[in-house]
Amino acid sequence: MRERENSTRCGAWKNIPEKDWYDWRWQYANRVTGISQLQKIVTESPETLEACRKVVEIYPFSVTPYYLSLINVAESDDPLRVQCFPDIKEIDFTIGGIADPLMEERNMPVPGLVHRYPDRCVALVTSVCAMYCRHCNRKRLWRKNQPAIRSRDYLRCMIDYVSGEPLLREVIVSGGDPLTMTEEGLDWFLGKLRSIPHVEVLRIGSRIPVVMPMRITRELCAILRNHRPLWFNTQFNHPSEITKDSAKACEMLLEAGIPVSNQSVLLRGVNDTYEVMCALLYGLQRISVRPYYLFQCEPVEGTDHFRTDIQTGIKIMKNLREKVSGLCVPRYVLDIPGGKGKIPLFPSSFASVRETGVDTYCFDRTNQMI
Ligand code: SF4
Repeated sequence: MRERENSTRCGAWKNIPEKDWYDWRWQYANRVTGISQLQKIVTESPETLEACRKVVEIYPFSVTPYYLSLINVAESDDPLRVQCFPDIKEIDFTIGGIADPLMEERNMPVPGLVHRYPDRCVALVTSVCAMYCRHCNRKRLWRKNQPAIRSRDYLRCMIDYVSGEPLLREVIVSGGDPLTMTEEGLDWFLGKLRSIPHVEVLRIGSRIPVVMPMRITRELCAILRNHRPLWFNTQFNHPSEITKDSAKACEMLLEAGIPVSNQSVLLRGVNDTYEVMCALLYGLQRISVRPYYLFQCEPVEGTDHFRTDIQTGIKIMKNLREKVSGLCVPRYVLDIPGGKGKIPLFPSSFASVRETGVDTYCFDRTNQMI
């Protein structure tokens, strides 16, 4: 675990006092969100910057100084840089892709609440994130001109719906990133859910420990602790994201009695080799974060350049299963487009995937299912 060399911390934020750097409010307020800001950090050609400008007109750009400090900005294929810097390929809509491959919008009995399984549902409580991941499968939520912050009335409709569905025992609070909410707002929402007798478990999905770990404060942990049993899923995709700061954030959650699991996405050029995946999983185990899922990247509009074929994923998993401690090995899964649920991906599961009649876009175009 080490901080990156050649990072922007050495340049743009060299003189920032530690007390500011480790204050999440400072990190949030100083996110780099515009191309003119980006221009001061990277040395890109005017053509590339112009292309970035076009991208952010559709998909906004936001990255925290902390996450930027982990990037070797001079390397265009840096595995952290590609996760947050705009790329012109995102707006090549001739490639195909679907805005909402999991058909979440069609499974919303009330706005923002996805109810696909009998025992659990997902509450999309905000469309704001500290960092906008370019591979995000909910890019449609934070596309320009989408409503960002949800009002109390909006959230109350979700609470009322959950109250009226006695089979719902688990609510996954997601977004956007729910930890961009105010502590008071988050406490209120979790408390309302917790007061529903049939809601037994809460789960938070957040990339905050990875992209702005200083947001995990003692105060926040105290709030989350109050709403246990509460499980926390985050998304580390590369070993370089495991730093002393992100490890500390996870440690604080664990000390508050909140189990932390990881859901990576298999991303081309980021983690689609055995060596990188192995280093990531060992790193997660070292910081007591359980590798839970490895997701096949969804066929989301504007993310095609991130998609690795399933054969590569299967090979990585085969290698992992043969060589790596079982505690480190996540489940490699495909969330089937069309909202048909998750299936584990093994060589033997190809046939069953095809039987689902899943959109051929996902598979045949790269020959991996044939
Ligand atoms: S933090 Fe999560 S919701 Fe936000 S952009 Fe990244 S993957 Fe998407």
